[in-house]
Amino acid sequence: MYDVAIIGCGVIGSSIAYRLSRFNLKTVVLEKENDVAMGATRANSAIIHAGYDPAEGTLMAKLNVRSVELTKDLCQKLSVPYAQIGSLVLAFSDEESAHVQRLYERGIANGVPGLKVLTYAETKAIEPNIADNVTCALYAPTAAVINPWEYALALAEVAVVNGVELRLEAAVEAISKTDNGYVITAGGKTIETKYIINAAGTEAGMIHDMALPHTFDILPNKGEYYLLDKSEGTRTNHVVFQCPSKVGKGVLVSPTVHGNLIVGPNAVDCEAGDTSTSAEDLAFVRSMAVKSIPSIDFRQNIRNFAGVRPNSTVDDFIIKAHDGFFDVAGIKSPGLASAAGIAEYVENLMQDNGVVLAEKAEYTDTREQPRFKEMTHEERAAIVAENPLFGRVICRCETITEGEIIDAIHRPIIPRTVDAIKRRCCAGMGRCQGGFCGPRVVEILARELGCSRQDIDKDKTGSYIVRKRED
Ligand SMILES: Cc1cc2nc3c(=O)[nH]c(=O)nc-3n(C[C@H](O)[C@H](O)[C@H](O)COP(=O)(O)OP(=O)(O)OC[C@H]3O[C@@H](n4cnc5c(N)ncnc54)[C@H](O)[C@@H]3O)c2cc1C
Repeated sequence: MYDVAIIGCGVIGSSIAYRLSRFNLKTVVLEKENDVAMGATRANSAIIHAGYDPAEGTLMAKLNVRSVELTKDLCQKLSVPYAQIGSLVLAFSDEESAHVQRLYERGIANGVPGLKVLTYAETKAIEPNIADNVTCALYAPTAAVINPWEYALALAEVAVVNGVELRLEAAVEAISKTDNGYVITAGGKTIETKYIINAAGTEAGMIHDMALPHTFDILPNKGEYYLLDKSEGTRTNHVVFQCPSKVGKGVLVSPTVHGNLIVGPNAVDCEAGDTSTSAEDLAFVRSMAVKSIPSIDFRQNIRNFAGVRPNSTVDDFIIKAHDGFFDVAGIKSPGLASAAGIAEYVENLMQDNGVVLAEKAEYTDTREQPRFKEMTHEERAAIVAENPLFGRVICRCETITEGEIIDAIHRPIIPRTVDAIKRRCCAGMGRCQGGFCGPRVVEILARELGCSRQDIDKDKTGSYIVRKRED
């Protein structure tokens, strides 16, 4: 019998698993996909918001602001890329200037440090490519950009090192209550557990309804993006937001933590799991973005993608305990920015509901990640002397070596697909998007995992690359 079963291994499930792995608990994470971070966590704006946006007094406001420092600290401990570049919300009219002022006041009430309302001239001085009709801007120095999927992976990896069991391709299909807990059917197997944590993203409503009376709906909502080449990565210095308007919440333009430029998202209601993009929606994103930064060169686009927000019928995060079942549902934006605080809040909620959390004598809370391209010449020479595979570059766009790919394959959460390698060490993330290194990655994966190249998928199970000819 498990003590805790966490359903879903996005940033919320993995943050909770990481925290609970410090305790003497038998914990299992059940994830329906073939890897960690396959839902909203892998396709979002990657912003650690400063915390001026959520309404005062909400859990979103409290946990977002609380998490800003926690996330910075965690990224350092876990060797996850993080850059505190600050954010700007641009206003283009008197009405929007008033909105910026309201955001400033809300931010102060929420406890966001360092906020300032800047004039056009002050904004232009720190963000030279903004449009000339900007009237003022809200500056938030604590906003940051991170690598969201590596963040979730790193948290899950440390949890596994500390003894948490991760079951991939284990979709939860049914839950029933017993005298001392729950029985879960997942991936065709049953498990018994005392407590359940529902962190299933866009499917959290369905999971809740398997165990409890219906109380909320998840309203999936899609956001589409452009990801531009690094040649556009210095087009802005900050995360540049717009004020919400009649046609949407506004499109952001921002450098990514890897040095690309991200532009998006829009907001369109959709089905859970619908990550398609359309030319019409992307044209809308483009038209909105150039209002802030007119000079973006969209010819440098290397990828379009979409993520699905787990919005809900509740105007806040839904974090509640019911008889050993803990909902951590409707974790819409700023869910990534709030994940660290959400996990802390859930830990306290569990204790308040009688879960005994006794700390282990030994556990780890850190992780190392080799990054060849960030090493000094001396460090490179030393690692190549130790393992010559670090001297063989596989992904030329991103300078990722065979040594790093092999290191990723032999880590505690084994990647089995080409995109899982991309999420772990960035091979295939560059300008050619894996056009050149993709076949080499398939080869290395098959060799290291001892399987055929036909067994290596691109992404989700069934997204095959190499197929046997059927005569
Ligand atoms: C377009 C967009 C932009 C965003 N931008 C930002 C931003 O800049 N900053 C920010 O703070 N937040 C942002 N967010 C929000 C943020 O991405 C989410 O709040 C966060 O990723 C939610 O994490 P999660 O773990 O709850 O959900 P998910 O990452 O979706 O994880 C849920 C997991 O549950 C699994 N699952 C589902 N059903 C089952 C089942 N039956 N059995 C087992 N497993 C199951 C899924 O496969 C998935 O892995 C954005 C979201 C989107 C979509």
